[in-house]
Amino acid sequence: MIKRNPQVSITTISSTQEERDKILKRIEIASILYEVSDPELPGISIVDLGMLVDIFPEEDHWHVMLATTYSGCPAIDVIPVIVKTALEDAGITDVKISMGISPPWSTDWISEVGKEKLLAYGIAPPNGSPTLHDEGKPKQCPQCGSTHTSLISLYGSTPCKASYKCETCLEPFEYFKCF
Ligand SMILES: [Zn+2]
Repeated sequence: MIKRNPQVSITTISSTQEERDKILKRIEIASILYEVSDPELPGISIVDLGMLVDIFPEEDHWHVMLATTYSGCPAIDVIPVIVKTALEDAGITDVKISMGISPPWSTDWISEVGKEKLLAYGIAPPNGSPTLHDEGKPKQCPQCGSTHTSLISLYGSTPCKASYKCETCLEPFEYFKCF
């Protein structure tokens, strides 16, 4: 019986100057995007909201692919413009911004930091299961942290939010529904 050595695959780390430059540029673009807030949610980065899909080089420019979040929220038309302006202000002009519905954005893409910021902003973050089409309900009141909350209306200021009331501090607040 012949005993074979396990096959060992050697992955070489790309180390050409051109490839290193591409990695650095990608990080630079991502860090600028991290500073861009959703106009409806000041102080909450579009990256934390899960809107950044990809950044990749294409012929003579960089392509920034964004996800369209909730349909019916007016900020959608504004975001690509804000992103382009933020990049241009940082001296990055060779970019193309696209905003698509594929892959479809989900509240699952909101980072933990994004959820904490939503709560601090006064909006109860999504707490449910988009894959099971369960819009969920707030874990706690953003004002006092109470878990005793009740639904006022399925639709709040935008279709993506529901209106709730806290039964402890009696303050109304909005809940970002899962989808
Ligand atoms: Zn409360």
